[in-house]
Amino acid sequence: MREVRIDPSFESWQSAARSLLREGISPDEVQWNDGSIVQSSLLTLSAPRAVEPVTEYRVPARFVDMARRAATNADPQRWALLYRVLWRIVRENHDLLDVERDIDVARLNELSQPTARPFVPQTQSVDALREAVKECRGCDLYKYATQAVFSRGPQDARVALVGEVPGDQEDLRGAPFVGPAGEVLDRALAEVQLRREDLYVTNAVKHFKFERVGKRRIHKTPAPVEVAACRPWLESELALVRPNIVVCLGATAARSMLGDQFRLMKQHGQWIESRWAPRTMATIHPSAVLRADDPPMQERNYAILRDDLRKVATELLGS
Ligand code: SF4
Repeated sequence: MREVRIDPSFESWQSAARSLLREGISPDEVQWNDGSIVQSSLLTLSAPRAVEPVTEYRVPARFVDMARRAATNADPQRWALLYRVLWRIVRENHDLLDVERDIDVARLNELSQPTARPFVPQTQSVDALREAVKECRGCDLYKYATQAVFSRGPQDARVALVGEVPGDQEDLRGAPFVGPAGEVLDRALAEVQLRREDLYVTNAVKHFKFERVGKRRIHKTPAPVEVAACRPWLESELALVRPNIVVCLGATAARSMLGDQFRLMKQHGQWIESRWAPRTMATIHPSAVLRADDPPMQERNYAILRDDLRKVATELLGS
């Protein structure tokens, strides 16, 4: 048995695992210590038995992605699990990850679920969250976007607007609602006399999701798993801001915050008491005005947005 000391990071585990694999040290012969084991049991360890070493091997890129995510989990058994799966991929079955009923694969799937949680600091400051989100690797969206786009607006705002995901311009400029959809939002806010600088404006998902069509980057709706992965940021920021009113902009934000049963076109503009704020409402996303098929539909969508926001302004005046 060999005790292997590593830092609690994917890179440290990966470097150690490569050496062990090359030496032919099987998972049963390894005790991993990432510093969380206070008292080492080194004295009870004997020299590990080695089997035939492997010098050349390839692992699926998917395993590396999953291992990187699982490494951020707090489960103390994760290093042993990762090495066991790696060993089995190299020595038993290159396609092991396809065997979903396999007990190790099932556990790895659990541990590698995308989530921002390990990256969200305990803090009383939205600015600290804004800084920390730059390092988030909670799902794969960070790989393709220019930067994380966090909120704008004061921490003591009484109203929070929650959109879906940054768009092309937001991604480039690093701020929410600064592109064409932001212009529509600003027009509606001005009409109902709400000042953007008084509002806390954020998105449910912090990295731009898109597909390339020629030179253009076309917005894509984030998948439920990506919305769920990003949710710890939204929970933390709204817990700090504690707005009286939350407005979900669009169906993605509405379903994420008010449940899958929420029907935007039927229930928009209705006040709901939610865990997010005493008064919560959903309305149409400003980009729905831009994407409407024809001018009458654009006008209709804009009127929904403006009239729902007017209810917010009226509520603020009365509170
Ligand atoms: S989209 Fe959210 S969870 Fe995914 S990497 Fe960005 S901040 Fe993290």
